[in-house]
Amino acid sequence: MTQWDVVIVGAGPAGLSAALMLGRSKRKVLIVDSGLPRNRFANHMHGVLGYEGESPQTLLEKGRQEVADYGVEIESGEITEVRELTTPADEEESVDQLQVSLADGTVTTTRMLIVASGLNDRLLDIPGLAAHWGTTVLHCPYCHGWEVRDKKLAVLGESVMNLHQAQLIRQLSDNVTLFTNGVDFIDDAARARLESRNIRIVSEPVAEVLGDGDQVTEIKLSNGKVIEVDAIFTGGMPEYRDEFLASLDLEREETPMGNVLKVDQLGKTSHPRIFAVGNVNAHHVNVPLAIGLGSFAGAGTNAALVTEEFDLAEASG
Ligand SMILES: Cc1cc2nc3c(=O)[nH]c(=O)nc-3n(C[C@H](O)[C@H](O)[C@H](O)COP(=O)(O)OP(=O)(O)OC[C@H]3O[C@@H](n4cnc5c(N)ncnc54)[C@H](O)[C@@H]3O)c2cc1C
Repeated sequence: MTQWDVVIVGAGPAGLSAALMLGRSKRKVLIVDSGLPRNRFANHMHGVLGYEGESPQTLLEKGRQEVADYGVEIESGEITEVRELTTPADEEESVDQLQVSLADGTVTTTRMLIVASGLNDRLLDIPGLAAHWGTTVLHCPYCHGWEVRDKKLAVLGESVMNLHQAQLIRQLSDNVTLFTNGVDFIDDAARARLESRNIRIVSEPVAEVLGDGDQVTEIKLSNGKVIEVDAIFTGGMPEYRDEFLASLDLEREETPMGNVLKVDQLGKTSHPRIFAVGNVNAHHVNVPLAIGLGSFAGAGTNAALVTEEFDLAEASG
């Protein structure tokens, strides 16, 4: 069985960027990837300097080639469990390795793990909404706002987060409607603020999103009324893809966007052999940030291994 220096969960921008630093540090690295990057629903990517308007797949394919050139191996598959492997050292037991299991039954061992497995966006359960996700149902004004500027824009959501989203979308068009789907989260002050810049508020529950191919065309309300729209901005609830770490009991923290793995500035978790980076513990991270943070986590992981190697060398005289 191959002994890896580092196994990376996920070949998205965060995982590939971490792998680049590690490959260039002569580390033996395996990336396991299940092929479901968060932005796979979108044909074009924006706000990514040097890749403006390119397909997300183009960046990932180029990244795969770049890390392969430094000897990083990439395998298709799904990591299902990570466990500690302890070896008795003198009187104390120490964790020298992690055991990583894949869905196909393969088991491998590694000195360090980088978790870069991203998240799933759980959308409101409204017929027609998910079918247009990434094309004309959108989440981020910086990623896809310019393409729908000056059009009839809807913001659809049930929480105060959508108040902020509606204000950002107003920068892109003077025709913005906030649909609250029957949930009463707007107080008088928030209402006055939205209406001061002509954002309409519709509080009737939404029955269905209607469309023509990739294009949303109308929002149908539960009272039967139909309102024309060109694009809908909404926010999915993040489901962080870290379930394979469950048995390790890592420290977590509550954030406004859910419960996430707690990490330091380099991405190190409460476990000395595990880093986590990208969307897996931060909902707001976009592609450029994922690349930057991944690069930091890759360097941090290499530094941890370097320290361990010097400690062992000194201890053995
Ligand atoms: C519709 C949409 C459009 C977007 N457009 C933009 C944009 O234009 N510009 C921008 O900057 N950002 C955009 N984003 C955000 C962007 O998707 C994220 O910032 C980025 O994907 C985060 O990178 P990541 O590496 O953390 O995770 P991901 O890119 O999601 O990669 C994680 C990888 O880990 C794999 N994985 C998960 N679990 C396992 C497992 N157990 N075993 C093995 N592999 C696993 C997944 O299959 C995936 O390949 C968009 C997001 C969405 C939803």
